[in-house]
This record gives sequence, structure tokens and C-alpha cells, in this order.
Amino acid sequence: MENKNIQETNTFKAIIVAGGSGQRLENDIPKQYHRLGNIHVLDWSIQTFLNMNECEDIVLVINPAHKTFLSPGIMNNTRIKIVDGGSTRFKSFINGLRTISNPKNDIAILVHDAARPFVRAKHIRNLVSNIYMHNASALAVRVTDTIQSFTKNGESSTLGQPINRDGHVAMQTPQGALYSTFNAALTWLNGHNPDGDYPDESTFLKAAGYDVTVTTGSKDNFKITSQDDMNIAQTIANQNTAPDIRVGYGYDIHAFHDEITDTTIKIGGIDVPHNKKINAHSDGDVVLHALTDALLGTIGDGDIGTHFPPSDPKWKDADSKDFIKDAIKRVHEKNGRINHVDICIVCEKPKIGPHRQDIMDNLARLFKLPQDRIGLKATTSEKMGYVGEERGLKAYAHVTVNF
Ligand code: MG
Repeated sequence: MENKNIQETNTFKAIIVAGGSGQRLENDIPKQYHRLGNIHVLDWSIQTFLNMNECEDIVLVINPAHKTFLSPGIMNNTRIKIVDGGSTRFKSFINGLRTISNPKNDIAILVHDAARPFVRAKHIRNLVSNIYMHNASALAVRVTDTIQSFTKNGESSTLGQPINRDGHVAMQTPQGALYSTFNAALTWLNGHNPDGDYPDESTFLKAAGYDVTVTTGSKDNFKITSQDDMNIAQTIANQNTAPDIRVGYGYDIHAFHDEITDTTIKIGGIDVPHNKKINAHSDGDVVLHALTDALLGTIGDGDIGTHFPPSDPKWKDADSKDFIKDAIKRVHEKNGRINHVDICIVCEKPKIGPHRQDIMDNLARLFKLPQDRIGLKATTSEKMGYVGEERGLKAYAHVTVNF
């Protein structure tokens, strides 16, 4: 018997079958390209295979009309070769098998349905071990529901005889065999049944005269065929998807005019009495400007100057509420949900304390947030620097957004 080391024994190649040319592209996006959590149904199993070092590479068999649905991460991955499918699943498998790069005769080839997103690495490993021990194997689970035949009588159906479930398993994928075995089975096919069509690889291998062993899978490796299945898959995916939480940061500073005069300045959208005007193109609201930049930061969409350039006379004396509203709209358009904002104002004068609640109320209205999701602090610069010399004021802001 050939003496292989463990590393060689455990490597394998995968064919993922994601649709053939026989399927027409309907108006609906095919199920394998529906989003499940943050990625497509198809991407879940591909990711599981790619995360296994033992997986040398993947042949992904698709309907060429679906190519536009593939994510760039799949298109550009050097371990994935994308191949056009045939008119049936079986022909797609054959196309995939013939396209495998540099196969050794004694390497395990696994074939997986793209519509089964939740296959687990440990079951793939068990399957690969069984292929190396027994030549061919397939994932399957015990049947636990009672299975009965039925006959249809007009509108109603009548149950027939129950099937003894002890002797039955429900087949899953991946299924696989050594490359040499698949090749020998194809030679048999060409000689004995060239038009043969088989629902899966184990049925084909058995028809060609090979024994196929069973590797125990798990029920969560189910195939998405109905909307019901899709809903269950969404629930599982949501439990396994890391939340996309982004923290945006913004900073703004404005100088006061030197001239002393009774006036008001905008802080957080509120008119606060002060003895110096703000030197700014717009209304110079450092709180709303810092918040606008923080919001834009969560979606990588430039900064306040990108969208409202001070060189444009249109924004002269602009109300900064319009800047904030625009940034909030941009975040919402990217499906962001603003969860929390946190602000620190730095100035010697005016005192923020007497106006703090008005600013909080205004921010709560603008962001549609409860007050315990709005942090508003004020501090002085301890008489140091420009701000300490009462020549201006500044604000720092963070926002937390869930996508
Ligand atoms: Mg500013």
C-alpha cells in the first residue's frame, strides 16, 4: 500500500456546482446569489472551503448568465477557477471535473451544491478521510421524520405505507471520490450510458459499480430550495455574522472676530449669546461641523468641505443643520443606523452649561435619538493656546453607526 504522509492524504480539490446553462435567467435573482448576512448564499460554503488549508483549489461551475452576480472577492481569488455549467447538474459536474487544474490520480475530489451554505469544516474533513480510506463517500444524515407514501385523490391526499426510516438516510453534499475513480466512472459512462443523467455523484458512482460510504453530516447543512428554507438560513446567518459597527470621528475649530459686540453664535444648532462673532463662511457651528465629518467618516464619503466647499458662495452663512441633515441622509442611503453620538466642546467662553439642555434637545431632534445616546461634554483649554486666550472654540465628535 502506498505510504502517504498525513498532509498529502488530507488535501483535496473542490467542485462547487452553482447552476448550469439549462436554467434560464428569470427576473428573480437565483437563490444562491441572494444575500445571507453580509455575503451571498454561495459565498458561505466557498469561504468554508477556502478557510481550509487542505483545500488546494475550487472549480466553481456557474450559469454564464449569472457571472454579473459574483462578488469581486470570488472573481479575483486565485484559488477559484470559474467554469460554465452544462444543461443539467450532472453535466455541470462533468465540466467541473474536466477543468480541474493538475489533478493527481490519488487526490480526493469533493463536489458541493452552492445552495448548501452551512457545511462545516469538520464534516468536510471526515468526508475526505473516508474518501482516502474507502475510495468514495458522501455526507448524509439520518432520517428522523416518519416518511410515508401518499396518493392524490382529486383535491385530497391519502397516506399509503410508511417507509422504514431505520434503513434510510437523507443525502447531502459534498460527495466525493478519488480523481482516478471519477475518471474510471466517466469512462464507464461513455461506454455504457453516454446519455445518462444522475441527480448526484453517489448515484452516478453506484451506477458505475463503485461502493459509496456514508459520512455523517449535520442537519444545518440543508439545501435552500424554498422561501421557508431561506428564512431559516437568514436566522442562522444573522447569528453567525459579525455586526458591521463603524465609529466615525470629526473635529472642527473656528476663530472669533476680534471686535467686541453683543451677538449670538451657533453651537449645536442653538443661538448662544456671546460678545464676539464667529469667523466662518457658514454659520461656523463647530459641533455640527465635527458631527458632519464624523458621519461622513463612517461611509468613506469625503468631508464637509467636499460636499459644501467654502469657495462656493451658495454656502455663505449656510445653516449647518443642512450639512448634518445631508450627512445623515448619506449614512441612511448606505443602510447605516446611527446608534450614538458623543461630543466634546472646548472653549473658555461662552459657558456651555446654561445651554447644554437646549443643545441636547436639538441634537436629539436632528438625530432622532433618545438623550441617553447623546454625549455632550464641555471643557476649557485652561487658558492655554488660541482657545485658552478666548480667540476661538473647537469641538470633537464621535458617532457610532451600525450597517
Ligand atoms: Mg467648520
